[in-house]
Amino acid sequence: MARLLILLLALLTPAALVQARAAPPDRVVILISLDGFRADYLDKGVTPNLAELAKGGVNAAMRPSFPSKTFPNHWTLVTGMVPDHHGIVANRMEDPARPGELFTMASDDPFWWNTAEPIWAMAERAGIRTATMFWPGSDVGWGGTRSRPAAMTSGGERPSDWQEYNQAITNRQRIDAVLDWMRRPAAIRPRLVTLYFDTIDTAGHEFGPDDPRIEPALTEADARIGELVQGLRDMAIPADLVIVADHGMAATSSERVIALDRLADPALYRVIEQGSYAALVPTEGNEERLWKALSASGPNHTCWRKDQIPARLHYGASPRVPPIICLARSGWTITATAPDRAFVGGAHGYAPEDPAMAALFIGNGPSFVPGVHLAPFDNTAITPLLRHLLGLPPVDSLDGTIKPFAGGLRQ
Ligand code: AMP
Ligand code: ZN
Ligand code: ZN
Repeated sequence: MARLLILLLALLTPAALVQARAAPPDRVVILISLDGFRADYLDKGVTPNLAELAKGGVNAAMRPSFPSKTFPNHWTLVTGMVPDHHGIVANRMEDPARPGELFTMASDDPFWWNTAEPIWAMAERAGIRTATMFWPGSDVGWGGTRSRPAAMTSGGERPSDWQEYNQAITNRQRIDAVLDWMRRPAAIRPRLVTLYFDTIDTAGHEFGPDDPRIEPALTEADARIGELVQGLRDMAIPADLVIVADHGMAATSSERVIALDRLADPALYRVIEQGSYAALVPTEGNEERLWKALSASGPNHTCWRKDQIPARLHYGASPRVPPIICLARSGWTITATAPDRAFVGGAHGYAPEDPAMAALFIGNGPSFVPGVHLAPFDNTAITPLLRHLLGLPPVDSLDGTIKPFAGGLRQ
């Protein structure tokens, strides 16, 4: 009885009433990331369920933010800010406020994540229940602190349901977890869900985007999406699906390598990131000597000091961006030393305007107009879109707006 009363009180909070007016209370928003799903993979003809969703909804080629890497872009998708503003500026980074520490994709200290608020925290704050079946940052208590050196995280806003990241959990298990959440009674059913698949990115790195051997990964993920759609239909749960990728994929080869040690004496720098771009920190007192060696760009790469990075990349203001960034031409690889064996494969991290970096976007559900193909837009628009779908008011503190979706959303 007491639990029932608490439930009734919770449902009667002003936030819940606003939500009830703004969006039907049984409608769910599911944000799905297919890591590394290049926009034109849809044209391979091996993803019939996604093709159907694209046809029956809104689709576009979406521009990632720089650098077109997994963590910076996943955080952009859920915060509406570019990496330079939201603080996850790379998959690997340092911060002058934490000397001697390196952020990697395994770091769970909220310190790194606290600069911008993720959509699940925005939603929970407004009384909307959320659940995450993986998303970078979703297993970190947002807004919390961690007392070092103990690995104890204190406080922080987490989704009501979340999972610790584990690549071994299969895509079918991930879909089943979401469907289980949907089976709950409406009062405790999440209204915003995230879902993440890594398998397409892994295949793209291994074989390259044009190799037919990536097709089984595409087909498998597509089949799981088909099961999700069918499961929602069977339960008669109306869902707005927002299906995205964090970036595309470019074909790489050992024939297209720029070895840093051929450009500058390795004693002059430390390498934080290498690959599609290199992030370098000059060693003590060697900033000018290093810059002299790197300032002459080659035909296939350009280096910038962080304050000279072109405005279109929106990068370099954050203290976490290291002093020198060298960006390769699409499909070229910057390495510390020349590779000792031949390779072909795929990579991302290149400039957002590179067509090979274009990411999948499909919006499908009661809020979307069927059969609309939108012009390419920046991925900072996704959080404003999610806020709209959840019935949250627009905020002007974000880098993106809902404007790109004009014509694609029902009134
Ligand atoms: P990238 O190196 O940019 O291609 O990153 C892709 C990798 O990020 C995938 O292989 C995933 O396994 C990994 N990844 C994705 N989400 C998470 C997470 N929440 N925690 C740790 N690693 C993740
Ligand atoms: Zn990725
Ligand atoms: Zn990747």
